[in-house]
Amino acid sequence: MADPVNLLNLDRGSMQAFFEDMGEKPFRATQIVKWIHQLGVTDFDAMTNLSKLLRSSLPERAEIRLPVITHTQTSVDGTQKWLMQLDATGNCVETVFIPEENRGTLCISSQVGCPLDCRFCATAKQGFNRNLSTAEIIAQLWLAMDQLHQFRDKQHRITNVVMMGMGEPLLNFDNVLPALRLMTDDQAYGLAKRRVTVSTAGVVPGIDRLAQSCNVALAVSLHAANDEIRDRIVPINRKYPLAELLAACKRYAKIQGGESITFEYVMLNGVNDDTAQARQLVRLLADIPAKINLIPFNPFPGAEFHCPDRNRIDAFRDILVKGGFVTTTRKTRGDDIAAACGQLVGQVRARAQRHQPEKVTH
Ligand code: SAH
Repeated sequence: MADPVNLLNLDRGSMQAFFEDMGEKPFRATQIVKWIHQLGVTDFDAMTNLSKLLRSSLPERAEIRLPVITHTQTSVDGTQKWLMQLDATGNCVETVFIPEENRGTLCISSQVGCPLDCRFCATAKQGFNRNLSTAEIIAQLWLAMDQLHQFRDKQHRITNVVMMGMGEPLLNFDNVLPALRLMTDDQAYGLAKRRVTVSTAGVVPGIDRLAQSCNVALAVSLHAANDEIRDRIVPINRKYPLAELLAACKRYAKIQGGESITFEYVMLNGVNDDTAQARQLVRLLADIPAKINLIPFNPFPGAEFHCPDRNRIDAFRDILVKGGFVTTTRKTRGDDIAAACGQLVGQVRARAQRHQPEKVTH
């Protein structure tokens, strides 16, 4: 007999197809999506509005299999980080919850390691092993909610999801998309599209596919205002240079009806942080609805960069603000537990050969 289907891999459309295939009515899909994702129930026997017959026959064809949380860390600032073990071979990813005054953001991983090799990122240093399945992506939200549920207060509510953990989400498009659909499905997590953000280092075809299929909020890891520097620190720029990337951003913004795109810019001392580059950035983004998010570089063991001092970051920001851009400097959260941007290192079973940017597939 075929292996049971892990129902966490299915968005509502695929769930309907699954039940029709079993000879059941399509509304069963909505019922079970609600049980799993809204009510956090994984035991078929507890799904009381399913017929007894269905409840007893489901385990032969289906299962609800979650990763296992092997470590939990809580920062002094309330940030929480979970290490999730995905499979028996030991592949792990990290997921981070960041509570703020008016929102709670969950930062989700999409790959075990990352193939893109951005020079300033700890995840890159561990190489790439594999894509996460849809189940493994959405399970991070399921498990985080389950963990935070015990507190039953506003400070522990997940209101936003960002695909800014480990990996490049647009290089795992086919598995990320159903997870995004579940996040934004009213019968599942019901998050507004602008509260779900996909962050990309610049996978241009993926940006266009996302625009066509599920135009959630887009963040682009820009990090440089010219190709010379970007080629060096974000190697995928050699495949999709700035002109192509920004053209894709414009198409995305147009399809989205003018919502801003967030441009992330990691501040690296002496590399991309002088005022001339801030002015170049203002010109570069002049005709794109853009918000800019400056990220002070977060160090990790063996890193070849340093964070500029506060004055330098502020001077850079002031030029962007004067240039007309809403610009924020990201607060570093959870750095005492290595949960800040670029510090995530899960566990990669076998250090696979890193793809060269030229060979990146999508
Ligand atoms: N691959 C995707 C999503 C993961 S990264 C992307 O590149 O957008 C999440 C953000 O953290 C990206 O903007 C990334 O460039 C940034 N980042 C990576 N390493 C960092 C570090 N050491 N300090 C600060 N930000 C970092």
